[in-house]
Amino acid sequence: MASTLPDFLTPKAYIAGQWRDAASHFPVSNPANGEVLAEIPDLDADAAREAIAAAESAWPAWRRLPAKQRATLLRTWFELIIAHQEQLARLMTFEQGKPLVESRGEVGYGAAFVEYYAEEAKRIAGETLPGHGADKRILVFREPVGVVAAITPWNFPLAMITRKCAPALAAGCPVVVKPAEATPLTALALAGLAERAGLPAGVFNVVTASRPAAIGEVLTTDPRVRKVSFTGSTPVGKRLLAQCAGSVKKVSMELGGNAPFIVFDDADLDAAVEGAIASKFRNSGQTCVCTNRLLVQANVYDAFLDKLAKRVGQLRVGNGLEDDVVQGPLINAAAVSKVEAHIGDALDKGARLICGGARHALGGRFFQPTVLADVTAEMRVAGEETFGPLAPVFRFEHDEEAIAMANATEFGLAAYFYARDYRRIWHVMEQLEYGMVAVNEGLLSTELAPFGGVKESGLGREGSRHGLEDFTELKYVCVGGL
Ligand code: NAD
Repeated sequence: MASTLPDFLTPKAYIAGQWRDAASHFPVSNPANGEVLAEIPDLDADAAREAIAAAESAWPAWRRLPAKQRATLLRTWFELIIAHQEQLARLMTFEQGKPLVESRGEVGYGAAFVEYYAEEAKRIAGETLPGHGADKRILVFREPVGVVAAITPWNFPLAMITRKCAPALAAGCPVVVKPAEATPLTALALAGLAERAGLPAGVFNVVTASRPAAIGEVLTTDPRVRKVSFTGSTPVGKRLLAQCAGSVKKVSMELGGNAPFIVFDDADLDAAVEGAIASKFRNSGQTCVCTNRLLVQANVYDAFLDKLAKRVGQLRVGNGLEDDVVQGPLINAAAVSKVEAHIGDALDKGARLICGGARHALGGRFFQPTVLADVTAEMRVAGEETFGPLAPVFRFEHDEEAIAMANATEFGLAAYFYARDYRRIWHVMEQLEYGMVAVNEGLLSTELAPFGGVKESGLGREGSRHGLEDFTELKYVCVGGL
């Protein structure tokens, strides 16, 4: 529905500074009501090669541009994103479903990466080292890696793009973005603002497609692409990693998680409940750092469960554009079925339903926020990312048992715990095999910190100076004969 689209959004792909159509199109629809928002060009592998060629030819001038000028362009882009925060937020709620308050938050969060890396662009530093002989000196340059392909998911349609593209652009790399098929409109709106900001043609490209495999194959095998930065599910990440091996590309992989949220018996239970609500139910449970398993110590188990159930019962479900709604629809029918399957499996194996448990009376893709008690390691929720509004509560007796339960997964993205004793806090923090640990806190994402996982949750980091370094190569120059 055209009236819902902001004026800076052209519903076409963006290659070499041109808005590009295609022979066929695919619909983008609102998950709250199924309404078609726009028909988007369905590009093929040749169009992906064209976008890579555009990026490749924009690269020499972009990397030579003084860092200060790249910084100014990024800063202008940041200011335009902030100036259009409300339109971007509404667009995101339309195509992704998250409540408007969260969409506004995501625009702020996503824009913060552009602001941060506009500043960092000016601070990319090399080194001089003592030479290995009296007549030699060692210089180390930090150079842009080259053309970057950024493949992004639907759950954060804006921030996952800026978290990759802002550091890439700051480092002097042009990018080809392949947004998720469910949420290409936010990506194209960002491209519209990048164009207004004056980013040179070919430096920022967006290729849209309904079936990602063909374009994905080009982005991961074309030798002109020097780095692939992917955020999405672990199975797709593994496939892309394998495809990248043929041309030995640099890769960053932000993959799935299975976050534990541990509540120890000395925790402030009210604070822990608030942290659990934020970490579990944000974006209706569709975030990679979402709590997937609540592990609660036996002697505070019932007290915590009561408080949690009361708060979950207050979460208002509905269309994200309505006031006070904090739980929007899930992204698609398959997501609803997965939550339902995890609940059914747990109940069959002896879990206790505390609240929710079924599709919401609103129908469609709405699901009741759910709490299950007496959940055990044999149930599917213990090992698989639910990616929905289901809080399964496990029980443990001792600290070492909680740590072992928390680490008993192939994932290692985010972990949370609530406790007061400082020795316990240090011990648990050090034992958790995770890339990110939040202590007495339910939200941890910020552009200031390195975001990323260990084990099968990924490779590389985004955010902070580490996120910029991932888009650079070190070049060692040996100067002799001095
Ligand atoms: P997904 O893996 O299905 O898709 C992610 C992106 O990959 C989309 O753009 C999709 O079109 C593309 N894709 C899929 N198959 C492809 C192929 N063969 N070649 C190239 N591209 C392909 O994931 P999703 O369902 O969009 O996102 C949810 C997943 O993402 C969850 O597992 C979540 O944990 C993870 N995630 C991780 C992070 C993180 O930072 N670690 C952040 C957000 C989401």
